[in-house]
Amino acid sequence: MWFFNSPEIVFGEDALSYLDELSGRRAFIVTDPVLHKLGFTETVAAHLHKAGLEVAYFAEVEPEPSLETVYRGTEAIRAFEPDWIVGLGGGSAMDAAKAMWVLYERPDLTADAISPLEKLGVGKKARLIAIPTTSGTGSETTWAIVLTDTTEGRKLGLGSRETLATLAIVDPSLTAALPPRITADTGIDVLVHAVEGYTSQWRNDFSDGLCLKAAQMVFEYLPRAVADGSDREAREKMANAAAIAGLGFGNSMAALAHAMGHALGAVFHQPHGRCVGLLLPYTIEFVTTGGVSRYADIAHFLRLPCDDDETSSAAALAGAIRDLMQQIGQPVSIAEMGVSRADFDAALERLCDFSEMDTQIVMSARIPERDELVKLYRYAYEGRVVEF
Ligand SMILES: [Zn+2]
Repeated sequence: MWFFNSPEIVFGEDALSYLDELSGRRAFIVTDPVLHKLGFTETVAAHLHKAGLEVAYFAEVEPEPSLETVYRGTEAIRAFEPDWIVGLGGGSAMDAAKAMWVLYERPDLTADAISPLEKLGVGKKARLIAIPTTSGTGSETTWAIVLTDTTEGRKLGLGSRETLATLAIVDPSLTAALPPRITADTGIDVLVHAVEGYTSQWRNDFSDGLCLKAAQMVFEYLPRAVADGSDREAREKMANAAAIAGLGFGNSMAALAHAMGHALGAVFHQPHGRCVGLLLPYTIEFVTTGGVSRYADIAHFLRLPCDDDETSSAAALAGAIRDLMQQIGQPVSIAEMGVSRADFDAALERLCDFSEMDTQIVMSARIPERDELVKLYRYAYEGRVVEF
């Protein structure tokens, strides 16, 4: 028995105006201070007001949101008693909103109880709307929640099939003003979701097609969206690709690049997409060397020039990903990311510890032993092709 979960998705130009018809009494917007300052809360609130809803907001979600922030937001939600919660922003705001939603519904729980093993019973007090303002995490279509335990400096992978938004609004106008750097950092994450969702241990017939399509869209439209932010077609396609990849990997799981990338991001405070994108080609090479691979399907779907065998097609895919990253100005090694050799060496054991604790590592088609993980990080630091 398996499942495929999806929110209702409204996408394309003017998707936000769907909110004008929403029925309910009170909506609570969860967002970050930067978006709030830029007027995004107001824009969304205007639509909700049209629908006759009372609106309140919490605009204090930081990047890599902490448990403390989630508890603080939950208090504000409890005081307002909304029947809709709106996660507005990148993955951080949407993930924080998901966690706050659960804790609002279930005051008896703490955040660490949000796992597939716990029957949550959400949806009795409120429903969740996810509105992405970046094209990357796909949090609008997944149930995953990534929070940070600030006492340990570690990322927590939470979520259950119940922590999926009821409604996702994918409106490309919200990403129109994103600077090229953020467009690239977030956009490359879409590709990692697509490739890992297609190759993880939990890959399945329902997510396969979504992952292939999303990968193709990233190669076609991400360079355009980075080069010219006003390219409306590229923005719309990337917004859709992010949600499509979210549906894909959200129903199959991410894998090794995410396990290692979460660790890299937490230790060196680097953006999520930059970390997982950097690591993806190395993990492709590592998994292929182990003799397991579905990368050939992806390489062929993308029509990459390569021979028919697994090794040559996986190498072509890893090479195409490195080319794409260089084209959009992303680092392809940890050294290029600006991490000094001394800092890297000092952090290596911790990087491996965090990777081994990450839930995504067991999803890899080839799970590295500790010494292999150490080597993988070293190769990724130096930018060497993985041959072990
Ligand atoms: Zn990701």
